[in-house]
This record gives sequence, C-alpha cells and structure tokens, in this order.
Amino acid sequence: MERTEAAAPLTRPAAHAAGEGGLATPLISLRGAALAYGDRVLWRDLDLDVLPGEFLAVLGPNGSGKTSLLRVLLGRQPLTAGSVTVLGRAPRRGSSHIGYVPQQKSLPAHTMLRARDLVRLGMDGHRWGISLNPGAIGRRVDEILGSVGAMAYADVPVGKLSGGEQQRVRIAQALATDPRILLCDEPLLSLDLQSQRTVTTLVDQRRRSAETAVVFVTHEINPVLGLVDRVLYLAQGGFRIGTPDEVMTTSTLSQLYGTRVDVLRVRGRIVVVGAPDAATVHNHAGGPNGGGRP
Ligand code: ADP
Repeated sequence: MERTEAAAPLTRPAAHAAGEGGLATPLISLRGAALAYGDRVLWRDLDLDVLPGEFLAVLGPNGSGKTSLLRVLLGRQPLTAGSVTVLGRAPRRGSSHIGYVPQQKSLPAHTMLRARDLVRLGMDGHRWGISLNPGAIGRRVDEILGSVGAMAYADVPVGKLSGGEQQRVRIAQALATDPRILLCDEPLLSLDLQSQRTVTTLVDQRRRSAETAVVFVTHEINPVLGLVDRVLYLAQGGFRIGTPDEVMTTSTLSQLYGTRVDVLRVRGRIVVVGAPDAATVHNHAGGPNGGGRP
C-alpha cells in the first residue's frame, strides 16, 4: 500500500522531545499492524510511531476503525496481524499512564456524582494516591479541576452540567493520573465552537507542558488544524499518514478513497468534497466555522 509517510522521522515534537541528543523514544509503536473483524479489514500494514508531545489526529469516515485503533492501544482489542507497543510493552488495560476521553455520552441527569468525584475516581492511587492523604488528594483534585477551568462547578452533580462543562470534567478525569499518553475519542462531538476551542486548547496545553502524546480521533480536522503535527487518515481499508498539508490534498485523498475527492482550502479551513462517505463529506464541509457534527 502506498503511504505518504509511515514511522518516519518526526518534526517538531521529536526535535523538542529528544533535546540535543537525537530521536525521542516513541510512546506508541505499531508495525505491520492490521485489524479485521471477520473478513472485513479495517486497516492493515500500519507502521506508526507516536512521540512524546506529539499531537496525532485520526480522521476517517464512520466505520473506518478509528475507535478500534484506540481500543488496541488500550489493550481492549488484539491486532489481527503485526505488533503494537505502548510505553515499550504490550498494551494492557487499566494503565495509569494512559488518559482516555471516551466518546461522549451525556451523563445521566439524575446522577449525584459531582465533578470532583469523577476526577477522584480517575485517580487510581498508582501515581498520586499511595503517599497522599485525603487532604492532599482533595488538593490535587482541585488542582486538576482548576487546570481545566472547572473549579466553579466542582461540587455540582455532573448530570446538571452543560455538554462543554461535562467535557472539561472528562478531560480532568483523564488527566488525573498524570498520563504520558492521552487518547481522545471524538471529544468535540456536540460541543459549540467555544467549548470545542476550550477542549482543543486544554489538550494542546497538556502535550506542550507535559510532553504527553495525544491521539485525537475526530471527524473534523478544522478545529485542530493549527495544532496537529500529523494526521492518520483511515478510509476504504487503507490509510495515509503525514502532516495535514501532506494528507489533506486532492491527490492523496483521491488515491485513498479510490475515487475523485476534492480538497479545498477556504479561508484557512479544509473542505473535503466528494468523499464516498456522506457523513464525512458533510462533516468536513459542515458549518461556517468548522464547528463539527450535526
Ligand atoms: P470508527 O470509530 O471509525 O467509526 P469503529 O472502530 O468504531 O470505527 O468500527 C469500525 C467497524 O468495525 C464498524 O463497522 C464496527 O461496526 C465494526 N466493529 C467494531 N467493533 C467490532 C467488534 N468487536 N466486532 C465486530 N465488528 C466490530
């Protein structure tokens, strides 16, 4: 399969993370990786390294295997072929080194859990808890909620929060263990533009301040266009990896989809026209501000 770039030497994050001494050690490595359910191959021959501090966006139409890739990294889904390492070893469930923002479902309106309870639940005692007394844990919870701007509603039952507020709390929960890798599954869904910006800024700050590698699944590249280092675009059982400028082009996406796809740049935004998946076309071309899904 043709690839724009795979497991290639990296740009800004590598130089940043490696300092003077050379290439940084990847936090995630896939080699010859394939995932199929029965006869249906979602992707194959995937070689990918994700470095400390790198922001990788995973794009592609519904059903292309984006969530399944996260499940592989979380140790919840074995590969069909090839190999994967996360922090130098086989992925395993429950790693405190991975923060996970699952696909957003509204939290039940009647739940009594407060934002601070969710964040506390996210602290598994491994990195913070053992030597921390309850007071220190409380202070750490406050610190994390403060870092995502959620202190004002720390004691409000989360079911009463807006979608954007809930998403801030989810990110706080994912950061509770001070993770080295942050996996986000469509974290911008159903959020208004301002909340989308808040979420993308929080994620970006995290990878810059803590060298946390970010794998960010999204239908819509525009909200993260200025932030991502590389895009992994999955479609039609294949993929392309590269910078947004390399991948989001008429020729690359036309090759990937096996049909003519036009990639337009309109006032700094990317609009994809003609991709076979209707949802993808709609989402890439949607709202005047790249605001996301219907
Ligand atoms: P995406 O996140 O890109 O929408 P997913 O990874 O959720 O895609 O799913 C890709 C395809 O694999 C979908 O068609 C889905 O129905 C199918 N699929 C996901 N998980 C399983 C599973 N455990 N067994 C069989 N098929 C699955």
